[in-house]
Amino acid sequence: MKPSAKKSERIEHAIEVAKSAHEGQSRKTGEPYIVHPLAVQKILEEWGMDEDTIIAGILHDTIEDTDLTLDDIRHEFGESVAFLVDGVTKLSTARTGMRDIDTYLPATKDNFLRLMIALGDDIRVLIIKLADRLHNLRTLSALPPDKQKKIAKETLEVFAPLADRLNMGLLRVELADLAFKYVDPKRYEELKSLIEKTNKAAEKSLNKIKNEVSAALKKEKIHFEISGRVKSVYSLHKKLAKHNQNINEIYDLTALRIIVDDITDCYLTLGIIHSLYMPMNGRIKDYIAMPKQNGYQSLHTTVITKDKHVVEFQIRTHEMHEYAERGLAASFYYNEQKLTENYKKGKIEHLPTNLLWITELQTTAARLREGKKVDLKKLKLNLFADKIFVYTPKGDIIDLPAGAMPLDFAYRLHSEIGDHVVGVKINGKMSNLNKKLEQGDIVEILTSKNQTPKQNWLDKIFTPHARSKLMRALNLSARSAAGENIDKTKKHRKPRTK
Ligand code: MN
Repeated sequence: MKPSAKKSERIEHAIEVAKSAHEGQSRKTGEPYIVHPLAVQKILEEWGMDEDTIIAGILHDTIEDTDLTLDDIRHEFGESVAFLVDGVTKLSTARTGMRDIDTYLPATKDNFLRLMIALGDDIRVLIIKLADRLHNLRTLSALPPDKQKKIAKETLEVFAPLADRLNMGLLRVELADLAFKYVDPKRYEELKSLIEKTNKAAEKSLNKIKNEVSAALKKEKIHFEISGRVKSVYSLHKKLAKHNQNINEIYDLTALRIIVDDITDCYLTLGIIHSLYMPMNGRIKDYIAMPKQNGYQSLHTTVITKDKHVVEFQIRTHEMHEYAERGLAASFYYNEQKLTENYKKGKIEHLPTNLLWITELQTTAARLREGKKVDLKKLKLNLFADKIFVYTPKGDIIDLPAGAMPLDFAYRLHSEIGDHVVGVKINGKMSNLNKKLEQGDIVEILTSKNQTPKQNWLDKIFTPHARSKLMRALNLSARSAAGENIDKTKKHRKPRTK
């Protein structure tokens, strides 16, 4: 964290401006209103955000709730702060119903998508909104029950997934658990005591395991920190729903987290754990070599101890841990200078590749504003589908959205391969073109130069990318069948307008 002993003059000034603007207003909790913007400021500072974002956080409710105007803010604090405050104001969905967005956004009931597009301009708007939402949830008990439910539900549906998308793990857990308590209080208490009971029961054996692992790691001279990780109530709730409420199928209820100095030590630690305990089949996940789509990195393994306890281990470096907990906010901290510069130029290309979806979002938002057509389905797929990683026979990793099939894989490699598919081997065995690919599959595409693309392949395709390639190939062959002379070597010919 940056030394914050001396607050910047601009921040002090923003606090004065906000104080006098909100003078006389109070919150439902009975406190003076200024408590809220100051709490948002504190959250943003904890997340390590840049000064403009913090100032915008302090001023985020002034346009909507006070006499202060956007011009005032621009005049006092500059264009960047004004832009951020304006963005947050437009986003306050609960009160203004996204009126602005409706004017250019095609009809979609998907609030998540609407919000994402509205955010396309500057992701820092979202970070302020998340800080705002977090404080509102922390103080939700002051609101009437119907409002509590509404805000809590929206948090579970929109804001917690967003925090996850940004890999802000700590925030996601806090938002989800705070909200779930209001959405389903009975279930919340049930699960919370279930978790406590399980952890209490596991405590003794967990300590034993901790000691065994610690001793083994010390022997190998690995520097490490080891601690228990408590599963959040809401994520347990969601997992139970997926597993028919069978608690015996939840293997990560008890987990130990080991933080080490570098990646080599991560793999060494994994090896040491597997030499101590029996790993469970299919439960080893290498999110270091293959990070989750939000950039999350860690090694996960579930083991069974000699006295039959099932324990999950999560192994990662300090950096990975920082990123897992603070996500986008963490990279803002590290890249602060660069970010500010690039935002001024309208670029955010230095974001880590796993956050490049933000760039895509910006492009989409800009296109919508210009009244251009946008394929929302495709955007949604790209933004939200979970990824799987599969391999070519040579071992190259290809990432595809979960649900992808062999033709998606083939078209991803090359359209020449896609167009000539006659069959597929998955993990060495002949398989069908409509088989969904699984994480880690080795996929070998069989081709023949006499093969031509088939109309019914459209049912065996999942990704928009492969679909558009196949459509193009089908059009070409239809037209060549109709006697048109077509030069097939032109890959990027524009489709003719009708
Ligand atoms: Mn607010």
